[in-house]
Amino acid sequence: MKSRKLLMIPGPIEFESEVMQCMAVPTPSHVSPDFIDTFANSLKLMKEVWQCPSGQAFIVAGTGTLAMDMAAANLIESGDKALVISTGYFGLRFAEILKRYGAEVDILEAEVGDIVSLELIEQQLKSKSYKLLTFTHVDTSTAVLNDAKSIGALGKKYKVLTVLDGVCSVAGEEIRQEDWGLDVVLTASQKAVGVPPGLALLVASQNAMQAFGQRTSPVANYYGDWANWLPIMKAYENRQASYFGTPAVNLVIALEKSLQLIVKEGLDNRFDRHKRAGKAMRAAIKALGLELLSKNEQVSANTLSAPLYPSKMDTSSFLKDVNQEGVILAGGLLPKLKNNYFRIGHMGSVNKSDLLATVGAIESALKNNGYSHELGSGTVQILKHF
Ligand code: PMP
Repeated sequence: MKSRKLLMIPGPIEFESEVMQCMAVPTPSHVSPDFIDTFANSLKLMKEVWQCPSGQAFIVAGTGTLAMDMAAANLIESGDKALVISTGYFGLRFAEILKRYGAEVDILEAEVGDIVSLELIEQQLKSKSYKLLTFTHVDTSTAVLNDAKSIGALGKKYKVLTVLDGVCSVAGEEIRQEDWGLDVVLTASQKAVGVPPGLALLVASQNAMQAFGQRTSPVANYYGDWANWLPIMKAYENRQASYFGTPAVNLVIALEKSLQLIVKEGLDNRFDRHKRAGKAMRAAIKALGLELLSKNEQVSANTLSAPLYPSKMDTSSFLKDVNQEGVILAGGLLPKLKNNYFRIGHMGSVNKSDLLATVGAIESALKNNGYSHELGSGTVQILKHF
């Protein structure tokens, strides 16, 4: 179809047609037996995908920001100390959210395109006693990947609750929540989980649930209060009807389907496919003579890439030209640099033809805008690496 465009932004992404079909089924009652089974299965599948068998899963209508808000609202009491490790726009957002609930927040901010070193994080954890630490697995503004396993281990060593913003990583980048000792891993439906926007998803460890249970003040957020949602999640887990706020019924049906597809692919296969996609896209971008915002391979995300525009090119119509070629990409997000780079999402169902089409569209748009390169020099890297 001539009008069809390929959506290659870092969320929402291209969704599997089996998932989209779930959005079109007649909406059942949220307390019907079939839907109760769907909800229960989704909670169970989340723990499998998050690799957190003893965790508590939550599915709530909302977005990734609500998932962040819930983690902060339920784990922070006024005066608690929190450490934010920021690798971009979404790290700073977490700091703002934590402050709303009265946390005293320290921020360790990485240079653009880099991470904060583990040594620096450890030094900070040694110097002060924190209740909670947040970090962004993949910051969607910079395409920088944090070492979640090592930060989880530091959290355990210093007895700090660790909250991983996995909005741009869950079901794309490797995460083993329980083995890595991460207390909350949160995401939104529209990214690598592969479901249209509208669900806030998180899994909390037993440790996090205990910390919640030991609160002495009420949660200052009515909708997000785990005291309201926990009995609902427990009821669905036990295949019983319950109600606090109406679930996003069709989205939950779509979630069950997508999680089933993810488990069917196999988590290790899926992580590997994302690694190959990331590596191939970065190789293609570099072969075209463009640089990436992320500083080196080690700190580069596999779910998206953030190429810098060539310095002498007029960039004003670049994304429009890519769109004309049938591919939708995103602009920069960091306020100070947003006109200097663009972003390509490659997560979820992404396959070789998506990558080829995307790099082909980028090559054509570069050429249209007067940037000289050998046509095909980027696309060949996809063929070589994916
Ligand atoms: N964290 C990260 C890393 C994100 O990429 C996003 C969304 N781009 C969010 C949080 C916020 O999610 P939402 O837009 O669904 O509220």
